[in-house]
Amino acid sequence: MSKRVCVVGGGFGGLTSAAYLAHAGYRVTLVEKNNELGGRARSWRSHGFVFDMGPSWYLMPEVFEGFFADLGLRREDYYGLQQLDPAYRVFFQNADPVTVTPRLEETVELFERFEPGGGARLREYLKAAEYKYDVAVGEFLYREYRSLFQFFNRRLMTEGLKLNVFSDLDRFVGKYFKDERARQILQYAMVFLGTSPEQAPALYSIMSHLDLNQGVWFPKGGMAAMVAGLERVLRENGVEIHLGAPVREVVVKNGKTAAVRTDEGEIAADAVVMNADYAHAELELLAPEHRSYSERYWRRRTLAPTMLIVYLGYNQKLNGVAHHNLYFSQPWKPHFDAIFKRPAWPEHPSYYVSCASFDDPEVAAEGTENVFFLVPVSPALEDTDEQRERLITQVMDHFGELTGNDMHRDILVKRIYSHRDFKADYNAYSGTSLGLAHTLFQTAVFRPQMRSRTVQGLFYTGQYTHPGVGVPMTFIASRIARDIVTQELT
Ligand SMILES: Cc1cc2nc3c(=O)[nH]c(=O)nc-3n(C[C@H](O)[C@H](O)[C@H](O)COP(=O)(O)OP(=O)(O)OC[C@H]3O[C@@H](n4cnc5c(N)ncnc54)[C@H](O)[C@@H]3O)c2cc1C
Repeated sequence: MSKRVCVVGGGFGGLTSAAYLAHAGYRVTLVEKNNELGGRARSWRSHGFVFDMGPSWYLMPEVFEGFFADLGLRREDYYGLQQLDPAYRVFFQNADPVTVTPRLEETVELFERFEPGGGARLREYLKAAEYKYDVAVGEFLYREYRSLFQFFNRRLMTEGLKLNVFSDLDRFVGKYFKDERARQILQYAMVFLGTSPEQAPALYSIMSHLDLNQGVWFPKGGMAAMVAGLERVLRENGVEIHLGAPVREVVVKNGKTAAVRTDEGEIAADAVVMNADYAHAELELLAPEHRSYSERYWRRRTLAPTMLIVYLGYNQKLNGVAHHNLYFSQPWKPHFDAIFKRPAWPEHPSYYVSCASFDDPEVAAEGTENVFFLVPVSPALEDTDEQRERLITQVMDHFGELTGNDMHRDILVKRIYSHRDFKADYNAYSGTSLGLAHTLFQTAVFRPQMRSRTVQGLFYTGQYTHPGVGVPMTFIASRIARDIVTQELT
């Protein structure tokens, strides 16, 4: 009989681990607390709108193609994909908005308009980013780190400076560009990694290779279609799925995983792959003697921001917007400080507006618009109804002025989502939406380990582990987890 693996959590980390391990021949059961799959990437359907509740930027398409190829499948048999054109639109506080397209030539011209010589410097910047990306993918991303020695290997020691591991992104970008708009476009993606440009290693300039060289993509039907595609992969591979079944305990016998306990009873497991938030699993599902990290360890981490989100279904079409819209306040540092240094509700927030119906007719009926606003905020704030409403009204008014739309008119659906919802829905530690920030000392070997230090047969995947935050990263984590589990179970 093949061995039994129980995957706890049906986010992308859980879905992909379950797929990999079932394909490797294990009997896999996936247990998810909520009534639907997808975790932070699940969807909410209302009045004909399909809102992706979390991720909306599909970056690193080759990672997803690689996942399907690993299973002997083709991504296009599970969901369709389109490249966005425009890739995104950027609104500035003191300048006209600009549109970023998938054509590098046009982005080069844009940067030349920002400042003389900016076009050539952008080419140089992106060439270096591509080099770093290739090294990261080839050497750093797809491997488990268990010791400092593995991390500080020869490549890192000889090339660490060239890879910009030890400097910060803010200063690094400042060496290339003076114009604030250019700098913001090259740094905004740090919010995707749950950190600020000042705290992020300059290695993360590879993020610009993703949006400006590789382009921004979108699954047809949104992330909801991607989750549905993965569910089909699981069912075809015989994975048993339990929904609405919060795990209450990982049962450990003689130092080994024996089962997971839900309200329905125990599910026997030779191995458990934990996709639920690491801190929740450690602090709430394991007895103190079975934990790898102390409560103090979690308290001392730099948490990634949480997100204040409002999902809006409009009975009108909006003018002057693209699928992805970014607004950067000027200066934008006070907003980062309000997240990471002195937690406060931001006074002049930068924010993101998704309008998926701009490209995708499957997510809203004709003549309507599927929109959400997202403002990154510190998880350490008191999340009151008044504060939520105040900030949401502020950004809706502001975006309306920028684009000439009445953002309060013809609203068919409105739902606000923030700190306490992340806690209640996903057991998010302190309400953080992204887990641990990608500072240098929370990267690679410094992220929580994928194998439990105390319990044999207990493994972790998902955004808390290496390589970290973001949908493609969770796919990579699960591939690493597959290799570890298969090694340990043989
Ligand atoms: C608002 C938002 C926007 C984002 N935008 C982007 C983007 O545009 N592009 C991008 O690449 N990334 C984006 N991200 C990041 C990305 O979505 C995440 O990194 C990724 O989805 C995390 O997946 P995961 O599997 O690690 O965790 P999760 O998706 O949280 O999955 C964990 C699962 O475990 C379940 N669970 C928790 N406790 C238990 C329990 N006790 N028993 C059973 N199940 C349990 C949870 O319900 C959940 O389903 C965004 C994230 C957010 C929140």
